[in-house]
Amino acid sequence: VTRIAGHALRHEGAPFDRDGHLIYSGGFISSSGVGRARCECGTMSEVLQSANQRKAWHRQHKAEVSR
Ligand SMILES: [Zn+2]
Repeated sequence: VTRIAGHALRHEGAPFDRDGHLIYSGGFISSSGVGRARCECGTMSEVLQSANQRKAWHRQHKAEVSR
């Protein structure tokens, strides 16, 4: 995994709501569930169905910012 300074995926792909707040499921932070990925730089994805989809979005995001 390529690490780019300032572009870490927040909470290992945990879901965030449209305001950029972590979505707690059952009071716990979980990387599963529906929500947006959030990058350390503040960029957020569309609503995605799983942590795997959010991680895929983040790989794409890093590829774009590293150009
Ligand atoms: Zn970023």
